[in-house]
Amino acid sequence: MPSWKGIVGQGLTAEQLERYVSTLAFGAWRPQFVVLHNTQVPRFSEWHSVPGQQRMDGLQRYYRDEVKWSAGPHLFVADDVIWLFTPLTTPGVHSPSWNAISWGVEVVGDYDAEPLSPGVRANVVSALATLHAAAGLDPQSLRLHKQDPKTTHTFCPGKNLADQRDAIVADVAAEIEGRNQGEHVPPATDPEAIPAPIH
Ligand SMILES: [Zn+2]
Repeated sequence: MPSWKGIVGQGLTAEQLERYVSTLAFGAWRPQFVVLHNTQVPRFSEWHSVPGQQRMDGLQRYYRDEVKWSAGPHLFVADDVIWLFTPLTTPGVHSPSWNAISWGVEVVGDYDAEPLSPGVRANVVSALATLHAAAGLDPQSLRLHKQDPKTTHTFCPGKNLADQRDAIVADVAAEIEGRNQGEHVPPATDPEAIPAPIH
């Protein structure tokens, strides 16, 4: 049985994720692309019926104790926060052909049944921009789980997310471009970042 890699288990806003990822080093392992998933269960409409921290604990028990994998996906993207699951600096377990060379990003929801909400979509775009920029990846390299030739999850992600793949990729590319041009201003939580008043 493979030893469990552990989880970060922290929920971050899109801005906090950007700052967090900027502190990581991808020298030992650098993925080549992102694989997009949806949770299917739970649905987005059910997600907030349980506190997010409890969701992470439950997911950890599922991957570690039930399916007995060494890890799970890297992120779970909800509308309020983006949950850090398997550490981004190590391979996860989420797509049989691509575990060793990709990040796995789960979007909370069942997109064969639910629409993609604006809040979730915004966090997906921002999180993907952060990951692609951090590893120097082309957003066009984004893959869907169901494109994995070895997977049996031919429904992942569901239609209402899969159909938006190209639009999301375009928005991710625009977001990265905007950040590079300095249009993106991180929130000034660091006192050093707040301009001194002019006397
Ligand atoms: Zn999947």
